[in-house]
Amino acid sequence: MKLGFEESQTPYTSGSQSARAWTEHWVSQWIYCPNCGNPKIDQFAANRPVADFFCTACNEEYELKSQKTAFRSK
Ligand SMILES: [Zn+2]
Repeated sequence: MKLGFEESQTPYTSGSQSARAWTEHWVSQWIYCPNCGNPKIDQFAANRPVADFFCTACNEEYELKSQKTAFRSK
Protein backbone atom coordinates (compact mmCIF):
# COMPACT_ATOMS: atom_id res chain seq x y z
CA MET A 1 0.00 0.00 0.00
CA LYS A 2 1.53 3.26 -1.10
CA LEU A 3 0.78 6.39 0.85
CA GLY A 4 2.54 8.92 -1.33
CA PHE A 5 5.71 9.47 0.62
CA GLU A 6 7.88 8.39 -2.27
CA GLU A 7 7.50 11.70 -4.01
CA SER A 8 9.55 13.62 -1.51
CA GLN A 9 12.88 13.00 0.10
CA THR A 10 11.94 14.63 3.34
CA PRO A 11 14.17 13.25 6.05
CA TYR A 12 11.57 12.07 8.44
CA THR A 13 13.27 10.95 11.56
CA SER A 14 11.04 9.81 14.35
CA GLY A 15 7.69 11.15 15.34
CA SER A 16 5.71 14.13 14.16
CA GLN A 17 7.14 16.49 16.74
CA SER A 18 10.65 16.30 15.37
CA ALA A 19 9.31 16.45 11.84
CA ARG A 20 7.58 19.71 12.60
CA ALA A 21 10.64 21.11 14.30
CA TRP A 22 12.95 20.44 11.40
CA THR A 23 10.36 21.61 8.91
CA GLU A 24 10.05 25.03 10.50
CA HIS A 25 13.80 25.35 10.69
CA TRP A 26 14.14 24.22 7.10
CA VAL A 27 11.59 26.72 5.87
CA SER A 28 13.08 29.57 7.84
CA GLN A 29 16.54 28.80 6.53
CA TRP A 30 16.23 28.31 2.81
CA ILE A 31 12.74 27.97 1.44
CA TYR A 32 11.53 30.44 -1.13
CA CYS A 33 8.04 31.35 -2.19
CA PRO A 34 6.68 28.82 -4.71
CA ASN A 35 4.28 31.45 -5.92
CA CYS A 36 6.62 34.30 -6.82
CA GLY A 37 10.11 33.01 -6.05
CA ASN A 38 10.79 35.49 -3.29
CA PRO A 39 13.47 33.98 -1.03
CA LYS A 40 12.12 35.67 2.07
CA ILE A 41 9.43 33.72 3.89
CA ASP A 42 8.37 34.95 7.28
CA GLN A 43 6.86 32.87 10.00
CA PHE A 44 3.65 33.78 11.71
CA ALA A 45 3.44 33.75 15.45
CA ALA A 46 3.04 30.34 17.00
CA ASN A 47 -0.41 28.80 17.34
CA ARG A 48 -1.84 30.77 14.50
CA PRO A 49 -4.90 28.80 13.40
CA VAL A 50 -4.57 29.17 9.66
CA ALA A 51 -1.14 29.73 8.23
CA ASP A 52 2.34 29.18 9.51
CA PHE A 53 4.32 31.17 7.00
CA PHE A 54 3.78 33.94 4.53
CA CYS A 55 5.65 35.49 1.66
CA THR A 56 6.78 39.05 2.26
CA ALA A 57 6.52 39.86 -1.44
CA CYS A 58 3.16 38.49 -2.55
CA ASN A 59 1.60 37.70 0.84
CA GLU A 60 0.85 34.13 -0.15
CA GLU A 61 0.26 32.11 2.98
CA TYR A 62 1.61 28.66 3.58
CA GLU A 63 0.42 26.07 5.97
CA LEU A 64 2.84 23.32 6.76
CA LYS A 65 0.57 21.22 8.91
CA SER A 66 -1.87 20.29 6.18
CA GLN A 67 0.31 21.01 3.19
CA LYS A 68 -2.51 23.00 1.69
CA THR A 69 0.04 24.64 -0.53
CA ALA A 70 2.89 22.27 -0.97
CA PHE A 71 6.42 23.48 -1.31
CA ARG A 72 7.70 22.14 -4.57
CA SER A 73 10.57 22.98 -6.82
CA LYS A 74 9.05 21.96 -10.13
ZN1 LIG B 1 5.61 35.17 -2.92
